Amino acid sequence: MKCQYCSHPDTKVVDSRETDDLSAIRRRRECLKCSKRFTTHERATNADIVVIKKDGAREQYDRQKVLLGIRKACEKRDIKDEVIEQIADEVEARVRNHRSTEVPSLVIGRKVMAGLKKVDNVSYLRFASVYQEFEDISSFERELKTLKNPKKPPKASGPTRRFH
Ligand SMILES: [Zn+2]
Repeated sequence: MKCQYCSHPDTKVVDSRETDDLSAIRRRRECLKCSKRFTTHERATNADIVVIKKDGAREQYDRQKVLLGIRKACEKRDIKDEVIEQIADEVEARVRNHRSTEVPSLVIGRKVMAGLKKVDNVSYLRFASVYQEFEDISSFERELKTLKNPKKPPKASGPTRRFH
């Protein structure tokens, strides 16, 4: 496995563990030349999984594509690559648990959004708007509002304090 940063052919495995759903072995590798670390996944191929897009087009499930979409949404946000990989893992587990090998892209998109929402609101909104999950601008604005005011604090039961 060559280094993803400098293409040096020698890397060492620094950590190795199964993903939560046991569908893959995740290996943390370190480049022997530039010392950067990256993650690889060893898994059965997903060639049997087909994604059905909104327009009805079908394509093979591709983890790289999912990762690309997540990375794009997280651009310039302070989000670790491990976190992005983890969201992709969650998506993959969801895809594998789907009742059929044909998975609507909606299922994938929603899972990505659920993952991003836990991590970073900006990335979440970016992904959601690119993904056109919102039917119109007003539902987008509604969502934005709920993110800005997550649950109003309960009214204080005592006398209202004034600061001026
Ligand atoms: Zn390297």
